[in-house]
Amino acid sequence: MLQERIVHIKEEGEKALQTVKTAIELAAWEVKYLGRKSELNNLLKGLKDLTPEEKQIIGPQANDTKQSLLRAFDAVKEAFLENSVDWEKERIDVTAPGVSVARGHLHPITQIEHEIEDIFSEMGFEIADGPEVETEHYNFDALNVPADHPARDMQDTFWLKTINNQQSTIDRKNTKQERLLLRTQTSPVQVRYMEKHTPPLRIVVPGRVFRNESTDASHEHTFHQFECLMVGDDVTVANFKWVAETFFSRFFGKKIDIRLRPSFFPFTEPSFEFDISCTLCNGEGCPVCKQSGWLELGGAGMVNQKVFEAAGYRQGKYQGFAWGFGTTRLAMMKYKITDIRLIMSGDLRFIRQF
Ligand SMILES: [Zn+2]
Repeated sequence: MLQERIVHIKEEGEKALQTVKTAIELAAWEVKYLGRKSELNNLLKGLKDLTPEEKQIIGPQANDTKQSLLRAFDAVKEAFLENSVDWEKERIDVTAPGVSVARGHLHPITQIEHEIEDIFSEMGFEIADGPEVETEHYNFDALNVPADHPARDMQDTFWLKTINNQQSTIDRKNTKQERLLLRTQTSPVQVRYMEKHTPPLRIVVPGRVFRNESTDASHEHTFHQFECLMVGDDVTVANFKWVAETFFSRFFGKKIDIRLRPSFFPFTEPSFEFDISCTLCNGEGCPVCKQSGWLELGGAGMVNQKVFEAAGYRQGKYQGFAWGFGTTRLAMMKYKITDIRLIMSGDLRFIRQF
């Protein structure tokens, strides 16, 4: 009876295997005829309950059947694998050209910064750096900006929430709680640098600054500035004029003239606005310079002795010039960009042009 059953399982299994057409059907077949709960497997598990005589006959027969079905299964499986691979697709053409990787480049502002740094380095200036999150002390007080100056207003400055914890203040020298802000200018680095160095010194400070104002084609809340500071025993306005003329002539690749106009800044005395001869018309007059032949570019002046004092120098011991201009403005002039908002937009269509 059992022997007949086993013969039947073998025949049925072999017959069913011939009708298998897909991998799913093959898997189902495996479960039915070779799986843990298959009839054949149950039969093998039941061998232990048989008499020794029965075991001698049924045991080998059941095992042979299992091995036979397993071999048949493996053969079909292999044929399936062979056919499932599209060898034409798998073929690798080693002579085909490779896929080129898109290469990025530095942001136009970074490129301009590097150019500016190179020119100043050649003139013996060192490059200095400072934090973008500043204390009220370095951004205003040490630079002689009066307590009631409108620049300190909420409308111009991004003030940060100050955590009420002594450990969290940046400047631990001051026992009073310092108010923190996003620096509105690169000038705080002047004081930070002078605190640690003794003149003669020449530094440039490239950096990002922040203003709390609404944006339009020529105003941005985040932009880049360049700070220049030269201090010594007898640095004069003439030194500034020479450095400025040399810098702009090299930057624009042609002779640039400088013009100074009296002005007022708390951190310099005397102070002046400076213009450069129009880079488009070379001073002859055009729409860009409004026919004046000059372009306004920034502010400068002789460092106010109060700023020296804040940095720890004795009043009257040194003199020097400080000068700031917009890196963003220069980039716009050089590349003829008409909307400042494009620069920090992160728009790759814009960035890729440089
Ligand atoms: Zn012009």
